[in-house]
Amino acid sequence: MKLQYVDMIDMAIEGIEQTKSRANDERKIRLQLAYNDKLGVQADKERVKQLLFILLDNALKYGRPAPTGEITLKLDKQQGQVTVSVIDNGDGIPKEDLEHIFEAFYRGRHRSSANPTPVIGTGLGLTIASAIVRAHNGAISAHSEPGNTEFKVLLPCTD
Ligand code: ATP
Repeated sequence: MKLQYVDMIDMAIEGIEQTKSRANDERKIRLQLAYNDKLGVQADKERVKQLLFILLDNALKYGRPAPTGEITLKLDKQQGQVTVSVIDNGDGIPKEDLEHIFEAFYRGRHRSSANPTPVIGTGLGLTIASAIVRAHNGAISAHSEPGNTEFKVLLPCTD
């Protein structure tokens, strides 16, 4: 890992721009800043990019599509930690899947009226995401109910 000062606001803006350019629908993707200053972490920039990509990619794949689909990336700072949340308003993750989603190769059942086509994948994205978070001494958790799914990452703050 190559550690350097990384401003999470810059990373979030970049992640959202990238996601918008990949999304071929009119889904609303927005950034919500609860903290109006630099949010710096000591991190490997490329790994942080991958982390945001995985969470935003999942929100795109499993969240609600246009015209009612929304994805929010929320940044905050609490007790010396930067918190990064990726929230979507899709059908959510069933309780029985929730405890397994960070396991390698685990894939949930996610075919719904909003997303009738099954999504192809390896079940590795969240395993990689949690490895990246662990390597930065952070934490990742998932909270989900129908219409509101949130992946929350905590990273030690340097500012
Ligand atoms: P790949 O990493 O190859 O894209 P994947 O998306 O299945 O495959 P993970 O990112 O590890 O792999 O996700 C594991 C499972 O968690 C998914 O199969 C899906 O069932 C569930 N999941 C992840 N994010 C969401 C989300 N935002 N909403 C609903 N389900 C989700």
